[in-house]
Amino acid sequence: MTARLTMTVGGAAVDTPASLDVIDPATRQVFAQVPNAGAAELDEAVVAAAAAFPAWRDKPWAERQAAVNLIGTTITANAALLAEMIVREQGKPRTLADFEVEAAAGWCFGTASLELPDRVIEDSPERYRVTRYEPIGVVAAISPWNYPLVLSIFKIAPALLAGNCEVLKPSPFTPMTVLKVGELLRDALPAGVLNIITGDDALGPLMTAHPGFRKISFTGSSATGRKVMASAAPDLKRLTLELGGIDAAIVFPDVDVEATAEKLFWSAFTNSGQVCIATKRAYIHEDIYEAMRDALAGLARNMPVGAGATPGTALGPVQNHAQFRQLQALLAQSAARGEIVLAENSTPADGYFIPVTLIDRPADDSPVVIEEQFGPVLPLLSFATEEEVIARANASDMGLAATIWSNDIDRAMRIAGRLETGNVWINESLSLTPLAAFAGRKQSGFGVENGIEGLMAYTEPKTISIFRAGAV
Ligand code: NAD
Repeated sequence: MTARLTMTVGGAAVDTPASLDVIDPATRQVFAQVPNAGAAELDEAVVAAAAAFPAWRDKPWAERQAAVNLIGTTITANAALLAEMIVREQGKPRTLADFEVEAAAGWCFGTASLELPDRVIEDSPERYRVTRYEPIGVVAAISPWNYPLVLSIFKIAPALLAGNCEVLKPSPFTPMTVLKVGELLRDALPAGVLNIITGDDALGPLMTAHPGFRKISFTGSSATGRKVMASAAPDLKRLTLELGGIDAAIVFPDVDVEATAEKLFWSAFTNSGQVCIATKRAYIHEDIYEAMRDALAGLARNMPVGAGATPGTALGPVQNHAQFRQLQALLAQSAARGEIVLAENSTPADGYFIPVTLIDRPADDSPVVIEEQFGPVLPLLSFATEEEVIARANASDMGLAATIWSNDIDRAMRIAGRLETGNVWINESLSLTPLAAFAGRKQSGFGVENGIEGLMAYTEPKTISIFRAGAV
């Protein structure tokens, strides 16, 4: 697994003299190196994608559907290897890595089932008018480190299906799995249709500023998203930004406390909290607050935290040093404010481990409530009324998703309609599908991924009118 992987550019293997270290977050040790591309390799990839574009654009839809399905079957055929790589470079437990690989393949199959037929707007004796959805051209795709494979596939499957060619850069923290997918697909896709390059912090800005791209599809933090948007401005590149979230969970007193505690726990702590759509603040009705808090604390205390590859591990380390330091700083701020830390389980000494931490009713303006923690730390807050909790949930610059936990579905639907987020889950969480739009409101995003709307985001409409009612 640690043999040096190569980039895929124009259907060929490309390496660089420079290298990027890959660190195992469970040990903090460098275990592999990958290519570190700069401007020259980026240019090569853009040229290769541009050269492949006309033929790929002109292929019948069914042929591109077959290609996207082939990406899915290739992932499935190599599932064990890819899951092992995800565990090693990302840190998550093997069961979750298996789930990620399965989801990535499923995303290909689901996306490939979508159609984007021409829309006949008018068909009258006077005029025929049709709107077509044409691919944009060469797309730059930039993905994050929390779900390196599936979040890259979110950008590959619809872009290619719609007829675009792509240059994708995974996060420098998790480059290996995606490089491997590039290698596996090298001979399966026409040269240049999908190019995978890896590089350090300099490569992302080079990509977003590159005039050869017509669109940028970015998933990452809101802070970086702002830079990407600014960088896209000079040549008005099309943009999709999937950014951070500070998602609220709202828990009503009619729920079964024990059963809901477990669901709420995983809504917050799956992947050690490193999920854009994780619950990042839990508003629990005051009538069940203590019972729910104690149930969550019981789960937290007994949760096995360790290396993802160790059997029985439920939660792995956080992924990298910067994230580790950010969480430590956030917890230090909580301690300095005198906030009550409820549960802290034990963690291994090596690696970027943060204990599963619950904070008991911090103030609404506490950093742990208003900042995206992106780790295994959850503030618990209590509320009294529906109006109050809607206002508090909406009092954020972010608007990615929210969850509502109640057996009163009318009430839950009423609240769902008033939350300023792009996604609301009722009595479940983290449930995405390639068939439904996923879009963050406010500073959680710009544009949309997934579903027919996400596919359309890789196209531009062209309306053609034919005047029929007279000679010319
Ligand atoms: P990040 O913003 O640090 O990095 C994301 C990607 O952008 C990486 O590939 C990185 O190399 C690249 N990058 C960094 N600086 C760049 C620049 N100036 N120009 C262009 N590219 C640049 O994010 P991260 O730390 O990898 O991921 C965590 C964040 O991503 C969290 O905020 C999380 O909520 C968010 N996220 C959002 C979604 C979503 O779908 N909304 C999904 C997963 C993660």
